Amino acid sequence: MKLIKHDTIPASYCDADVKLSVVGAFQIVEDLVTEMMGELSIDGLVCMNTYKAMWIFVRNRIEMRHSLAWKEPYTAECYISSIGKAKLNVDTVLKNAENAVALASRLELCAVDLKTMKLRKTETVGLDGRIIAEEAECEIKYERGKFIPDQCLDTVTVRSSDIDYCHHTNNISYIRYLMNQRAAAEHSRRPVRVIEVQYAGQTHEGDELQICSCKGTNENKGREYYAIRHNDEIVLNCLVVRDGKPDKEIDADDPYMQETIAEALEGIYSGHGGPFGSVIVKDGVIVGRGHNMVLANTDSTAHGEIIAIRDAEKKLGTYDLSGCVLYTTGEPCPMCLYAVLWANIDKVYYGCTIKDNAEIGFRDEIFDELSGGREALKEYLTCIDRDACLKLFKVYRKMKHGTY
Ligand SMILES: [Zn+2]
Repeated sequence: MKLIKHDTIPASYCDADVKLSVVGAFQIVEDLVTEMMGELSIDGLVCMNTYKAMWIFVRNRIEMRHSLAWKEPYTAECYISSIGKAKLNVDTVLKNAENAVALASRLELCAVDLKTMKLRKTETVGLDGRIIAEEAECEIKYERGKFIPDQCLDTVTVRSSDIDYCHHTNNISYIRYLMNQRAAAEHSRRPVRVIEVQYAGQTHEGDELQICSCKGTNENKGREYYAIRHNDEIVLNCLVVRDGKPDKEIDADDPYMQETIAEALEGIYSGHGGPFGSVIVKDGVIVGRGHNMVLANTDSTAHGEIIAIRDAEKKLGTYDLSGCVLYTTGEPCPMCLYAVLWANIDKVYYGCTIKDNAEIGFRDEIFDELSGGREALKEYLTCIDRDACLKLFKVYRKMKHGTY
């Protein structure tokens, strides 16, 4: 039996780029598998009541072959692709409107006896020949990696919202912990193509988990190995394969400046313009962002600050950005400075100074002298994370782009 569904990508499963996120992909796959198992009467409830056992996720590989955007229609097929003595594989394939495979997933499940907590034979948990495996539609192969934790990246505490109906940590929450290690801009610049997860243990509310990178991670080749540990025991292993090359490590002290740098990097790697990114923050939330688009738009006024102001005003539905703070990698030029004032922005934090902008060949300083300097705005403009932003400028300089 194949479960076939026609649907569109919901906004809640999308990332900042309004494309299906990795977390959203796991959610879609899990929903479809749960529904298909329900149709076959081997869902959690039936198994608990009838067979006194439970199917648990062991491994899942998801290949994002084409991106799917919000509202984009897709056709999903979900079916059992193999039944072994102690495990079964469930494949899920999502095809886009052109009938191309956009997402392919293989999920391996094992049944556990609820009394002994030992593995059960599949034939004793509903797969007694009454259900037969379908021929696999896609080539999906698991990879075997060695996961030796190397460095602890983060520590998270499992909260009640991370818990599933069995009082264990939700599989999707684990993916969320892993994906949260990267800024939104990096996810969009270097999308995940493959993610393979092995579940080795379970955790519960209040547990403190360590998110670790593992030996063998080679970001230049787009391969990352992670492990999630609890009390020195690995509970989850994960392989991530991404597109593109990693960012040079630039660490800002201020988290908003970190996002601003990520925004600027996205711009320079895309060839959009200079190393200037901006984000606008209101009540702790980023409400607008943009990077220099002078080259991409053939528009000498498309500075990062202007793009971010337009983005925030459109999102908030107002031309009055009172209560907002602007972060920018380079001290604003006179044009942007006055645009920021026109927008009623409360305060500006910048990384590199106007002199630093001049050092890499931009003409801000000349225009600033022409407009009479900025002594009167000393309190309004504050320099933070200059070192981190200088590193960003260095990356740009190495790329040998032009200035204007
Ligand atoms: Zn400007």
